[in-house]
Amino acid sequence: MNCKTCKAALPNLLLDPAAPENSAARAHTAVCSACALELTSLQATLALLDTWQAPAVSPYFDQKLAVRLRELQSAPAAGWFEQLRSRLLFNTGRQFRPMLAAAMALVLIAGGGSVGIATFQHPHSVLASATVNDLQLLDKNAQALQQVDLLLQDDAPAAGSRVSLPQS
Ligand SMILES: [Zn+2]
Repeated sequence: MNCKTCKAALPNLLLDPAAPENSAARAHTAVCSACALELTSLQATLALLDTWQAPAVSPYFDQKLAVRLRELQSAPAAGWFEQLRSRLLFNTGRQFRPMLAAAMALVLIAGGGSVGIATFQHPHSVLASATVNDLQLLDKNAQALQQVDLLLQDDAPAAGSRVSLPQS
């Protein structure tokens, strides 16, 4: 076991030091001072957390919460502009990813199909160029993915600024 795998195993070792599956991590912390230091620091953190007392709930918490919920329920619903604004502000572009995946799958299927057709027509001569074609397609796919990533990164702040304009 090296320091990297030991660091990953430290939480388990901390929670159950006597477990047989943690024996490798235990043996490593016995010989490695850096990992032993990490373990003692984690133990100190856990001991500190054990001394923490959760504050008592105030006596009328449930009633206050119910009143607050009723206030929010009776408040007028947010307008469509407010809903659109929040949707644009907190948009991550994640909803476009399934579409992108489907487009890439289509490209791959088309590429695979062209290999089959090419080898059927010219069994020996076209095989190499079909492979080259596929490699070029993959390269283009990687470029397109990079561009889409850049677009998605640019999209979020642009959407925010576009929305904040009509506000002022
Ligand atoms: Zn170590």
